[in-house]
Amino acid sequence: MLKEAEFYLPEKEGVRCLLCPRECFIPQSKYGFCRVRVNKENKLYTEIYGEVSSFWKDPIEKKPLYHFYPGSTAFSIGTIGCNFACDFCQNYSISQKKSFTRYFSPENIVEMAKDTEGIAFTYNEPTIWYEFVYDTAKLAKETDLYTAMVTNGYMNEEPLKKLIPYMDAFNIDVKGEKDFYEKLCHAPFYDVFNSVRTVFENDRHVEVTNLIVPGWNDKKEQIEEICKKLYEISPEIPIHFTRFFPHHKMRDRNPTPLETLEIAEKIAKETGLYYIYLGNVGRIPDITYCPGCGEAVIRRRGFDVLKNRIKNGRCTCGKKIYMKG
Ligand code: SF4
Repeated sequence: MLKEAEFYLPEKEGVRCLLCPRECFIPQSKYGFCRVRVNKENKLYTEIYGEVSSFWKDPIEKKPLYHFYPGSTAFSIGTIGCNFACDFCQNYSISQKKSFTRYFSPENIVEMAKDTEGIAFTYNEPTIWYEFVYDTAKLAKETDLYTAMVTNGYMNEEPLKKLIPYMDAFNIDVKGEKDFYEKLCHAPFYDVFNSVRTVFENDRHVEVTNLIVPGWNDKKEQIEEICKKLYEISPEIPIHFTRFFPHHKMRDRNPTPLETLEIAEKIAKETGLYYIYLGNVGRIPDITYCPGCGEAVIRRRGFDVLKNRIKNGRCTCGKKIYMKG
């Protein structure tokens, strides 16, 4: 459904979208980079308001969010398009192509989510779905549903700050250095740690994912830099190092060796980060350790929680665990 976009400015011979750091200049009848925002008579419109390409009930651990309502189910929805064009994208059939969508209103989504604990905006980049995500999250917060989004963090500060009161949790993908963003994601560099900081400082739950792509962001110094930047915001923010598998335009590459992920885990520990996980490696059990006494407080098998020893947000030793729900 077509709806006027929220963050843009009319300019001479076009409009400038202010939703994400690309800040596309869009002439009459043309689209922005994400291919879902169009200039019609010098007004910017989103074409995907309520247009859902995929929905499913997922364990929240799958997002991944390990410290947010563990063991809960999130009604997960996505649309089409992206403000990136990553060569390794796993969901390129919805992020880079015009696949089939069906319209649902925010009320429909909240109703469909009623037998789950919350709503997750995921599958493709929710930033470019902003107006619908905002309306749906706001409506969901009038019920007892939680809201979460899985994002590349590539959103301007003004829209992010407006969304934060209605979005309980974020998993933000921090990818790497300037080169990684420019050459693999085809996006002008923006430091998405700004978004991590904004979310954390505004008291919302945040976890970070770092996909390690061999030859691109797997050097020791690069991993150290990511860990250092996260530590400076807070050592409590969980980090998920995930394994790259060949996809899309990078089908000829090898998956990330397990040893690389284990080195990343070691670096994160040495930096002082409390909660470190390896994704796409099939580690069983997948454990959250208490940063106080070192005991296992949550054990998982795949996305299932086997045991959760956290009570009232604390380990049995009394240490507070970074955890919501
Ligand atoms: S949201 Fe889309 S149109 Fe707007 S600046 Fe980002 S890529 Fe461009």
